[in-house]
Amino acid sequence: MSSYDIIVIGAGHAGCEAALASSRIGLKTLLATSNIDNIAQMSCNPAIGGIGKGHLVREIDALGGEMGKIADATGIQFRRLNTKKGPAVRGTRCQSDMLAYKVKMRQVLENQPNLYLKQVMVDELVIRNNQIEGVRTSIGEFFPAKAVIVCTGTFLRGLIHIGRNNYPAGRAGDFSSERLTESFSQLGFPVGRLKTGTCPRLDGRTINFETLERQDGDDPPPRFSFSNVPQELTQVPCYITYTNDETHRVIKNNIKESAIYSGIIKSTGPRYCPSIEDKIVRFAGKSRHQIFLEPEGLTTREWYPNGLSTSLPLKVQIEMLRTMKGLEDVEIMKPGYAIEYDYLPPTELLPTLETKRISGLYHAGQINGTTGYEEAAAQGLMAGINASLKILGKGPFILDRAEAYIGILIDDLVTKGVSFEGRAEPYRMFTSRAEYRLSLREENADLRLRRHGFLLGLVTSQEFNRFEKKVSDIFLLRGYLNNTRRNGQTLEELLRRPEVSLTGLIPSSEFSLEVMEQVEIQVKYDGYLHRQEEEVRRFKKMESMKIPERFCYDRIPGLSHEMVEKLSQIKPGSLGQASRISGITPAALQILMVNIIK
Ligand code: FAD
Repeated sequence: MSSYDIIVIGAGHAGCEAALASSRIGLKTLLATSNIDNIAQMSCNPAIGGIGKGHLVREIDALGGEMGKIADATGIQFRRLNTKKGPAVRGTRCQSDMLAYKVKMRQVLENQPNLYLKQVMVDELVIRNNQIEGVRTSIGEFFPAKAVIVCTGTFLRGLIHIGRNNYPAGRAGDFSSERLTESFSQLGFPVGRLKTGTCPRLDGRTINFETLERQDGDDPPPRFSFSNVPQELTQVPCYITYTNDETHRVIKNNIKESAIYSGIIKSTGPRYCPSIEDKIVRFAGKSRHQIFLEPEGLTTREWYPNGLSTSLPLKVQIEMLRTMKGLEDVEIMKPGYAIEYDYLPPTELLPTLETKRISGLYHAGQINGTTGYEEAAAQGLMAGINASLKILGKGPFILDRAEAYIGILIDDLVTKGVSFEGRAEPYRMFTSRAEYRLSLREENADLRLRRHGFLLGLVTSQEFNRFEKKVSDIFLLRGYLNNTRRNGQTLEELLRRPEVSLTGLIPSSEFSLEVMEQVEIQVKYDGYLHRQEEEVRRFKKMESMKIPERFCYDRIPGLSHEMVEKLSQIKPGSLGQASRISGITPAALQILMVNIIK
């Protein structure tokens, strides 16, 4: 059997980024996936980005990842959300042509030097002396490797529920991975169970669009990628309908038939993506819920009714849908369902996403208890980079909470895990998770991260030159604003006034719109940004107080048994990380600090 530097298991959103990162860094990589025709499949909604998630996509792009480029090339409606709010919470989102997205990603993978693709079901991790040696497949093939990145999504012992029926599957139309969990259990990894759900898919020929509210994208469409990827596809509208009393009545009457409410499903789902049954029960006072009808692509009539995730029986799904305006005669192409799957608590991981138990073994994506394509892609990219750096004998690449949402995501996962109020719950990104969110804006992701991407070998010289030109334009424009006076005031001083905009001040400028936007935000929020810099300095000081990897907490007087247990399990790399572990008090931190410094 051929041997590889790195094997990535699973070609979902995490696996694709991981495999591209490692092969671009120069390592021979195998992307082993159970269904080669479903590479980069969007298991749920046909959309990339959104608030918080858009930040992740742009950071992935700034570092040289692929998601933003493919989203730009295959998007069929783009919008910038929250434009009336402050710059920290604005987010880009696009409707994707799902099929085009998959095809494009596969093309990129197949044309990537050092990267090999194989359709295999990996059943077993092969380990010797706590070091990964390779993987074994369901037909007994052994592939040796120096590192393995597991990106198996919702596939580990996946079980689909529709009403009271259930059957094993990784997601609709894909086999589940039934044996790999056993490998983890044998190695001593704790295994948990989570659930998520999705909407029925509708036949567009049976939707009466004429009666519905139409929603178009922005013109010109905003972009994710800093590499100027051209828009290729026709832009199309979405439509809006609403649930009503009759819809709610149908759901309530049949609630006991829902897999979640019949008690068949015990695991927890994402609180922020509740099923329609959940919404009706939890928000009983609400008379209607908004449902976005989103096209799945330009070459299909399949539509996605966003907001209608359900595990009700198929006949109830149809009855419920037909109560809504525009859907009176609707036909379902694919039923909605819930899925339960195994996940591995991410507190088992180092900030590089390598497992603490097994050297060379990394986990990325939904296997870590997250939900979302963007969260998965971000982890895949970081795992791919770190696995490569380790093999090359280089130091790790870790982003902190003041540098990137990716840093926040990974720090939250490895420090706190995915438990909330004692219950495991899928983790998704929100801007509210960021302490320094005014500095971590979507539009400055390149200023924060592009250089890292270039130094890692993931951003090309051409892309980097484009970035450097932008940086110098920002500098020039700020210089111009500072040195040009109007009625005794500099243009920069004038721009600080809330009612003044940069395009109002200099209507015809040779600078690009992205440079203008950047400078305007920098000037208008200058005071806040300075204040935030002070907080970031304090944060960095705590992060710089490193705790040795083999630090023995049980020898320190003054720490409770529970604290010692937590600290020994999480193994925080710094005092800063220790401060974020739940239950670690300021007094305990003082004790730790004294013991680290002495
Ligand atoms: P996936 O995209 O699931 O990819 C896993 C890959 O691993 C697949 O290519 C599979 O073929 C491969 N694989 C698995 N096991 C093996 C094996 N043993 N050997 C070889 N290959 C293997 N996210 C949201 O943000 N909002 C939602 O509302 C939402 N709803 C969802 C509803 C459903 C029903 C599902 C299934 C997912 C939903 N998601 C949602 C989650 C989103 O799809 C995932 O978070 C994202 O796709 C995870 O990416 P991933 O790369 O970790 O895994």
